[in-house]
Amino acid sequence: MKQIEVYIGLGSNMGDRASNLQDAINIIKNIIGIQVKAVSSIYLTEPWGNKNQDDFYNQVIMIETHLSARALLRELQKIEINMGRQRTENWGPRIIDLDILLYGDEIVDFPELKIPHPYAQQRLFVLIPLEEINSEIVFPDSGMGIREVLIRALGREDEKTINKVD
Ligand code: AMP
Repeated sequence: MKQIEVYIGLGSNMGDRASNLQDAINIIKNIIGIQVKAVSSIYLTEPWGNKNQDDFYNQVIMIETHLSARALLRELQKIEINMGRQRTENWGPRIIDLDILLYGDEIVDFPELKIPHPYAQQRLFVLIPLEEINSEIVFPDSGMGIREVLIRALGREDEKTINKVD
């Protein structure tokens, strides 16, 4: 079966943030039809939107799967719910947030699923761990390479601080 290379962004800013990320990765590893191929370092990021909340721990993983993008989204949403995530405000605190950043070189545009993820080319907390895993990534919508996108994002004054967690 054809395996697609998929990049998933993970974020947590509630409870034990590092173990929330690890728990989610362990659950993903156990899903039949998914192989986790690469895991980035963890990065500490200031929150977007509502500033009155803890900093996020962010990470990116690369998986290979034959699941469709929509089937994968359903699996990730099950994990978010099982780990106790409450859907309240849009940019509020969360135990775990799982986003499909890239699904092979496909462009997906359903109301509930947009890939490349709309913030993938703007946010350092996505770009830095993505580049760490694979510096050859090309975004299928803009045609731009990850390095160029990252340099542009680093040049923007409104970008937040981001540091690797040891
Ligand atoms: P969030 O609160 O950031 O987790 O946003 C969740 C919503 O984003 C879900 O209802 C998804 O249907 C939608 N969504 C759109 N595109 C994506 C994507 N690429 N990965 C994950 N969720 C997505």
